[in-house]
Amino acid sequence: MELQSEGHCIFCNEYFSQKDIGKHLATHLKIKEKEDKGKKTNGFNHIVVEADVMFLQLLVRSTCEMEEIDNFLRDIWLECCGHDSGFHIKRGEEIEMDDIVGNVLTPKTKVSHDYDYGTTTRTFIKSVKVYDLDFDDDDIVLLSRNEPLKIMCSVCNKKAATVLCSVCLWEGDSYFCNTCAKKHAKTCEDFDDYASMDVVNSPRMGECGYEGGSFDKERDGVYKERKK
Ligand SMILES: [Zn+2]
Ligand SMILES: [Zn+2]
Ligand SMILES: [Zn+2]
Ligand SMILES: [Zn+2]
Repeated sequence: MELQSEGHCIFCNEYFSQKDIGKHLATHLKIKEKEDKGKKTNGFNHIVVEADVMFLQLLVRSTCEMEEIDNFLRDIWLECCGHDSGFHIKRGEEIEMDDIVGNVLTPKTKVSHDYDYGTTTRTFIKSVKVYDLDFDDDDIVLLSRNEPLKIMCSVCNKKAATVLCSVCLWEGDSYFCNTCAKKHAKTCEDFDDYASMDVVNSPRMGECGYEGGSFDKERDGVYKERKK
């Protein structure tokens, strides 16, 4: 299954590919920085969090602790049952949760984030640039994220998949539309018991008991064709 992703720009409402959205957002941020001159501004780090084709484009207040990013990732992408997590810099060095974002994520720095040291979900964070902006009380601003991926039913390939089978996933693509899921339940004992899980827009999909994020729900589900 070869997937591509795109995200929606918070400033102009247009859609851009994963590759182009960062540069595009930077043009808005540059303009906003100019417009915000003289207002109550703060340093914000523009960062990108990626797990393969899934991504988050974020602004994080530079004076925040790294824990704020950890919490944000848990809320939007990761939290299932309170597993441990941590940030690591490329050489394997651990970053403390109370380290300050502006000190750790200097431009061009790359760090990884692991959630759950058993069934680990690893994401990569890249710091792009720091801007002086006026964003009131927000510590983290979600500039863009990948729209739900085009995951089609692996049986009929006609409809978007709504559920997966976490047991059969080991043997190949096991994403099902509602109709094919009913058929799968007849041949797979575990499916109705515990193995059926919703398709969600997160790199933790199908792992442990993950059921989706706690906010931005409308972009956390099944693929929908976008009207162009
Ligand atoms: Zn835009
Ligand atoms: Zn869990
Ligand atoms: Zn189907
Ligand atoms: Zn199954």
